[in-house]
This record gives sequence, structure tokens and C-alpha cells, in this order.
Amino acid sequence: MYKIIDGKALSAEIRREIKEKVSAFKEKYKKEIGLAVVLVGDNQASQVYVRNKIRACEEVGIKSYAYYLPKETKQSELNELISGLAADKNINGILVQLPLPAGLDSESALKLIPREKDVDGFSAENIGQLCMNGESLVACTPNGVMQMFKHENIGLKGKRAVVVGRSNIVGRPMAMLLLNADATVTVCHSKTVDLKAECLKADILVAAIGKAKFITADMVKEGAVVIDVGMNRDENGKLCGDVDFENVKDKCSYITPVPGGVGPMTITMLMYNTLIAAERAV
Ligand code: NAP
Repeated sequence: MYKIIDGKALSAEIRREIKEKVSAFKEKYKKEIGLAVVLVGDNQASQVYVRNKIRACEEVGIKSYAYYLPKETKQSELNELISGLAADKNINGILVQLPLPAGLDSESALKLIPREKDVDGFSAENIGQLCMNGESLVACTPNGVMQMFKHENIGLKGKRAVVVGRSNIVGRPMAMLLLNADATVTVCHSKTVDLKAECLKADILVAAIGKAKFITADMVKEGAVVIDVGMNRDENGKLCGDVDFENVKDKCSYITPVPGGVGPMTITMLMYNTLIAAERAV
């Protein structure tokens, strides 16, 4: 019998804890916690993400500073804004919503975010620290997955974990977190020769591919924990994950649904990172 990991409920629980800690921080230090959110251009999905992030700030008591820049913004203008936020004592976290419009170089902009304000955990310094199992701000989506393991008391030590996907924002940091938690980790990608054979070895299978229902029941070991990071549209335009949930679920011990699984955890972990950044700054 499988158990569904309810990301929505867990996310609400963690947000309540964050709210209490934010309130205690403000009381103790008599100051706000500030998150700057920078959106360039008019990408609709990005606008929704930014709105949700600002709403989450309101929910937990973090002060948000939103910067909406037109798509014609020059690199120098964007970089100047980020440099100013980097130096601003009221700002504990800086987030540049990606992707940036064509013509703007995200790497050059992101490099200006100091490591201690890099609440997305995307900087080379934070990723490097994560690789060395040091103190870092961890990318929000994989960090959210780790909270799910913790909450469900899913032991990782000595387990065979397979991560499908090696992006800098999900697959790679996910693999590092699992390794740091003493799992034996395999990372698969589009050039993996026998993906099914690799997946079948997994006690813990994390799918971060971006292909609707790509992980099918014949790829999953009996009793595996299956975490679905994917956010795709199926043939009917309905939101779905990278895992063929209906056919895979009966083989699992735990499985995350889409929607309502990993998705809600991501913004919650952004709030968590902002709180951590503020606590480290005092
Ligand atoms: P990405 O940058 O496109 O990376 C996809 C990865 O999947 C790549 O490493 C790619 O391999 C691998 N891949 C593609 N086709 C494959 C195949 N046939 N077999 C094996 N591996 C294959 O995507 P991402 O940003 O990591 O996102 C992945 C999914 O997670 C997307 O659906 C995205 O929307 C979702 N997501 C969700 C959240 C959330 O909050 N829930 C956050 C971020 C992303 P190569 O490296 O060889 O190309």
C-alpha cells in the first residue's frame, strides 16, 4: 500500500513554523526581514511565480521589495539594481526571476548576488559549499524534497537513490543533498544508456526531467519512494508530473502527486532560506 506525500499540507505546516520564527526575529532584533524580487519583462508564467512569492512573504511576515523592469532594460541597469540590493542592509535575500528576456545575461546578473543573499541557492559559491557538505543556502526545490523525506521519516542512509535529470536548479543539487545524507547516488540524463535498468535499482527515485508521465511502472522497483518534481501539461492540457502516477503508485511505498507534491514546497523553502539568511546576517 502506498502513501501519498502531501506537499500542500507539509508546506502549510512549515510556513506556520517560519511565520513564528520570523515574528520572533522581528521582536528580538527590532527589524524586518527583507526579500527583493526582481522581474524583468512580461513573461506571464514569471509574473505568476513572482506574485506567489510576494504572497508567501505576506503570509509569513517577510517584507517583499518587488522590482518590475521593462523588457528593454539594459544589462548595466539590471546589474546596477542588483549591486544596490547587494549593499542594502534591509535586504536579506535577492531573487532574480528567470528566465530573463533575450539579450540579458543571467550569469552576469546572478554573479552580483552575494552568496549570503543568494536565497535561490544558484550561486557557484553556494553550490560549491553544498558539494563540500558545507554551510550553504540550498536550491529551494531539492531542499523541499529533503523536507519531505524528513517529515515522513524516510531513511536515506545507505539507500540507492537515482535522480533523473542533472539541471543546476534541481537534478544536481538534489543528487548532492542525497549524497550528503549518505545515500548511494546515481544521476541519469538524456545520454544514459539504459535508463530503465538504472531506475529499477532505485530505493529512492527522483524524476526531474520535464516530460509528461515519462517514468512508467516498468521502471519502478517494488516498494520504491518516488518523488516527482516535473511540472508538465498532459495531452488534455492538465497539469501532470514526470511520473505516470496512476500506473506507478501501486508499486511505491511513498509517492508525491502533481499537483500538490513537490510544487508547493519550493516557495516555502524560499521563505525558509530568506529567514536563514537574515538569521546569519545578525
Ligand atoms: P531541465 O533543465 O530541462 O533538465 C531536464 C533534465 O532531464 C536534463 O538533465 C536532461 O538531460 C534530462 N532528460 C531529458 N530527457 C531525458 C530522457 N529522455 N532521459 C533521461 N533524462 C532526460 O529541467 P529542470 O529545470 O531540471 O526541470 C525539470 C522538471 O521539473 C520540469 O518539468 C520543471 O517544470 C520541473 N520543476 C519543478 C519545480 C517545482 O517547484 N516543482 C521547480 C523546478 C523545476 P540532459 O542534461 O542530458 O539534457
